[in-house]
Amino acid sequence: MIQQNISLLPYNTFGIDAKAAFFTEVFSVPELQEALQSGIQPVLVLGGGSNMLLTKDVDGLVVKNTIGGIQVLEGEGNTVHVRAGAGIVWHDLVCWAVEHHFGGIENLSLIPGTVGASPVQNIGAYGVELKDVFVDLEAVDLNTGSVKIFNREACRFGYRDSVFKHEEKGKYCITSVTFALTRNEHFLNYSYGDIRKTLETNGIAEPAIGDISRAIIQIRSSKLPDPAKIGNCGSFFKNPETARFVLDKIQETHPQVVSYDLPDGRVKIPAGWLIEQCGWKGKRVGNTGCYEKQALVLVNHGGATGEEVKKLAYEIIDSVEKTFGIRLEPEVNII
Ligand SMILES: Cc1cc2nc3c(=O)[nH]c(=O)nc-3n(C[C@H](O)[C@H](O)[C@H](O)COP(=O)(O)OP(=O)(O)OC[C@H]3O[C@@H](n4cnc5c(N)ncnc54)[C@H](O)[C@@H]3O)c2cc1C
Repeated sequence: MIQQNISLLPYNTFGIDAKAAFFTEVFSVPELQEALQSGIQPVLVLGGGSNMLLTKDVDGLVVKNTIGGIQVLEGEGNTVHVRAGAGIVWHDLVCWAVEHHFGGIENLSLIPGTVGASPVQNIGAYGVELKDVFVDLEAVDLNTGSVKIFNREACRFGYRDSVFKHEEKGKYCITSVTFALTRNEHFLNYSYGDIRKTLETNGIAEPAIGDISRAIIQIRSSKLPDPAKIGNCGSFFKNPETARFVLDKIQETHPQVVSYDLPDGRVKIPAGWLIEQCGWKGKRVGNTGCYEKQALVLVNHGGATGEEVKKLAYEIIDSVEKTFGIRLEPEVNII
């Protein structure tokens, strides 16, 4: 059923009250294909709305993807292939994997949103990215309704990036994703951030995948704002990857600058640190602002419009560029 003039307020974690001219929720591929036969264009696919900033009402058809189902497929030796419907809540899939003792996605615990959106920006956290466990995905062409499979190469994953943010942007609805998880021998990764410290506090010397998932849930809950309480989309900006000489120049005035070496000789500088140095952390501008505990997160203090948040984002981008010569890029999809 296609509805008209629907508020998207309950469907985006920034809590922006934009409207969809046409709106439908689909629970299966045939339902999606039927909705596409309406011919209403353009089509905007919506998962959990946790990585989009709606700056105006949406013309065309918004499709809320609620396609479910988890299937355990064949795998070899230590590997098990799992196919999950795109509408499944990402964290529910992580919990399901932990319960079944399947390893590989425990470090991605508590990332909001859906399975279907996870390849779009190659979600990542605590040293793991979606691409590390990705096999392929099934997607429906939003113009023709035909089904296509994208393997890892076709997705062209990068840091918070994929082909679905470039050439294939807005052209497909991802309907399922297949993951390669570990069955017995897991490759645990707890060297990153505060995981080790949290495990120690929890009295765990030899962690299992469930211990890592729980530690990450603890850390994330203490650091990131809960969208149910304060509107946000997590990190608003990507951490810039830049040439070493740019870092050297920053070090002259800010010797305490934090950086991470990249395999290609460049360096990654935390965007949150750059924003904080420019005095934005905790700053409120009208109904929006920069989160007090993490400058990388922009928040809606209540009643903010998408345009207001976008304006703040670009003021921050300009101020960081003026101070450090680095132009930040939004990670959030600005619609
Ligand atoms: C508190 C908080 C913490 C976060 N932490 C992290 C983190 O640690 N790491 C991280 O990577 N991200 C993080 N995010 C961002 C967000 O959770 C992810 O980007 C997530 O994958 C978005 O999923 P979604 O279903 O909400 O996508 P949406 O916001 O609904 O959509 C995002 C984009 O993907 C497109 N899209 C959605 N579903 C589909 C589909 N089925 N087919 C094709 N296109 C689709 C949309 O059109 C849109 O362009 C965080 C967000 C919040 C609010």
